[in-house]
Amino acid sequence: MFEKIVIANRGEIALRILRACRELGIKTVAIHSTADRNLKHVRLADESVCIGPPPSAESYLNIPAVVSAAEVTDAQAIHPGYGFLSENADFAERVEQSGFVFIGPRAETIRIMGDKVSAIKTMKAAGVPCVPGSDGTLGDVDEENLRIAKEIGYPIIIKASGGGGGRGMRVVHSEAALLSSISLTRSEAQGAFGNPAVYMEKFLENPRHIEIQVLADQHGNAIYLGERDCSLQRRHQKVVEESPAPGITEEMRNAIGKRCVDACLAVGYLGAGTFEFLYEDGHFYFIEMNTRVQVEHPVTEMVTGVDIVKEQIRIAAGEPMTFKQKDIVLRGHSIECRLNAENARTFVPCAGTIHQFHAPGGPGVRVDSHIYNGYVVPPFYDSMIGKLIVHAENRAAACARMASVLSEVVIEGIDTNIPLHQDIFRDAGFLAGGVNIHYLEKKLSLHKAPK
Ligand code: ADP
Repeated sequence: MFEKIVIANRGEIALRILRACRELGIKTVAIHSTADRNLKHVRLADESVCIGPPPSAESYLNIPAVVSAAEVTDAQAIHPGYGFLSENADFAERVEQSGFVFIGPRAETIRIMGDKVSAIKTMKAAGVPCVPGSDGTLGDVDEENLRIAKEIGYPIIIKASGGGGGRGMRVVHSEAALLSSISLTRSEAQGAFGNPAVYMEKFLENPRHIEIQVLADQHGNAIYLGERDCSLQRRHQKVVEESPAPGITEEMRNAIGKRCVDACLAVGYLGAGTFEFLYEDGHFYFIEMNTRVQVEHPVTEMVTGVDIVKEQIRIAAGEPMTFKQKDIVLRGHSIECRLNAENARTFVPCAGTIHQFHAPGGPGVRVDSHIYNGYVVPPFYDSMIGKLIVHAENRAAACARMASVLSEVVIEGIDTNIPLHQDIFRDAGFLAGGVNIHYLEKKLSLHKAPK
């Protein structure tokens, strides 16, 4: 096992990784920007290294600075968390070349999954169901592209192969708009991602977002840890996540889980990963794979009892996983609300000092957050300040528990999205379960007060 790990992230996930390290008896190095000296995990870590000024590009995304933090502290491994450098294949390669262990899959795997066309190709070959679409990137022959779209059937969506973060996509409803949309998406993709390659998919009109969590070690073991439903989204950002997904039977779960595990074994996957699917009319359609720990991993931990972050570390250290597939039994229901420092109506981010913070508690309540009384939310980073997670015997009980938690938590001094969450947990449609990815935005547009 490692003796010392660099935590190459900030906020709640850095604290989450620190907690896992402590339980495993591993020393920690916190790296931070000058704006983040007072982060909770920085105070708790065995050592800390300031790696640069507030802008991410000069600190958390600065590869030489992160790697040299590992060098000066004599650490053995680097945990990238999510976001920042976690899915940067060049970073993973650089970490390994410098003699450290990257806690995640091989750089080559990250590279394949980072390009949507190569990811889909790989998954298709491994037997994972994908959205009907063009086989690979689109060429320059108009007649050919018109023919492909006709074959798929409108509406279709044009997507940038190098795209991410919900950008570089365009829906086309009729043949008349196809060619101009392709060239527009191409030039946008070139500008935003430096890669003009685009491809085409059937546009699913009312899908749900359901994803499968996997773990794979260096000893040929791969397992799936059930699914998460993350359909409640705003601008492609997840707001509430839960496990299990309403209405998914054990049979369906096992069938899709098995496909994901087979794909992991086929590509030699290592560590924690998530297969994201759109789910419509009883069918799963792969859209992308995330090669890192996800924000919403706690709901899976609550229903399976597996500590995903500890497993990531064990796997990276070359140990076999502590669990086999037969040990994975889903118990009860778990829901997570992402807490953002933002106005609950306008969604404008809100930096500033948290004057009062009272965490909720009680049975089946988990708070993953770095905030404390007097903590100053800096304006430089993502607005998420933590996650409220509940676990209960079934979905109805979990919803009731979350509603109670939301009325108990106090955060004063900054705007938060707690009022939005309170609305959600009073919403009959959401409480019934199984809403699609457009549900929250539709609800928000209905409730906008006329000016
Ligand atoms: P990104 O990497 O930018 O997040 P994804 O491929 O994961 O891109 O897609 C982001 C979101 O776009 C999905 O969660 C879904 O809401 C929408 N989307 C993507 N592909 C399709 C599709 N074929 N049909 C309908 N919606 C889609």
